[in-house]
Amino acid sequence: MNNTMESLELRGLSETELAKACLKLGLKRFRGSQIFQWVQDKSVRTWKEMANIGVKDREVLARHFVFPLLELVQEQRAADGTRKYLFRLPDGETLECVLMDYERVQARDRHTVCVSTQVGCAVGCAFCATGLGGFRRNLSPGEIVGQVLEITWLVRQEDPEFHVTNVVFMGMGEPLLNYESVLKGINLLNSSKGQNIGMRRMTISTSGEVFRIRELARDNPQVGLAVSLHSAQDAVRDQLVPMNRKYPLVELIAACRDYSAITGRRITFEVALAEGTATADEARRMAELLKGLLAHVNLIPVNPVAETGMKRPQREKLLEFSRILEGAGITVTLREERGTDIDAACGQLRRRYGE
Ligand code: SAH
Ligand code: SF4
Repeated sequence: MNNTMESLELRGLSETELAKACLKLGLKRFRGSQIFQWVQDKSVRTWKEMANIGVKDREVLARHFVFPLLELVQEQRAADGTRKYLFRLPDGETLECVLMDYERVQARDRHTVCVSTQVGCAVGCAFCATGLGGFRRNLSPGEIVGQVLEITWLVRQEDPEFHVTNVVFMGMGEPLLNYESVLKGINLLNSSKGQNIGMRRMTISTSGEVFRIRELARDNPQVGLAVSLHSAQDAVRDQLVPMNRKYPLVELIAACRDYSAITGRRITFEVALAEGTATADEARRMAELLKGLLAHVNLIPVNPVAETGMKRPQREKLLEFSRILEGAGITVTLREERGTDIDAACGQLRRRYGE
């Protein structure tokens, strides 16, 4: 294990890595397991809270590990139970994450957190608040996991039984452009001595990093995949999702077919519709493009971001779009937007806050 700050970041270390680090410091191996459980399961925020570790050992540990926390800058609560958090990182950067449906009675046993994987994003999609600000930096595994841990800690102040059941990598940033850290974060969240979130309860959303889609199928076939499609025409998608200029639709769809063949899993295609794209013609092209794929389509009316000038389509148009896809045998969810009264779309809160 090397000695960089990141590798000793407490929230980003596995049980084995912690045990090894403890041995190196002349401490017992089992200290590693104890620390892991305090950090990853109990989501404590200080060394002092680790009650079964003696003061002397805690002092040694505190000198050798960094324990960076996410500082809550702002919390917004929407009428539908969605909570949105703006956190500040130790270097002053800010990131957003969202807890969905927390107060909805029918969702009491399902608590989904939407986490960020980068500060900003280099892809620059036309409708996305995060993309507008450009790329700042990747998040470390500890910072990715830290979002779930901080939210758990915050909610447990009022609801001690609370635990996160599902994680979606759909916050700020392109997860497959921070691949190693995202995979490490997923493994930490999956650990049975930590949050114990099943692989099948985690979903990565990508704008279409084809090379990594194939790697993901091989490296972690259990984790879910969502692909941000938005249009079935290259000329349109080139403008909406600039990743399309590198990997056009024919390559993206080929990678999706390979992904499903290897994993046996259905892919969710995210389609944010604006006035210009919610047309019957686009729907028919999309049905054709997805023919024969193990696919589910999530239709979302685009969330207006002031700078993008994009408008929501009329509900009638959305319904028609949905009917055409369903008519072609594709399952569709017409997603009620969550938390629109609190800027819940990707990157919106951070942008309003002034980054
Ligand atoms: N970078 C990844 C994951 C983060 S974005 C990706 O693009 O998939 C998560 C989802 O939010 C994507 O489907 C993205 O297209 C969508 N999104 C971003 N801004 C939006 C907006 N203003 N309205 C609706 N969906 C938006
Ligand atoms: Fe990046 Fe996703 Fe936003 Fe596109 S939609 S700019 S890929 S975060």
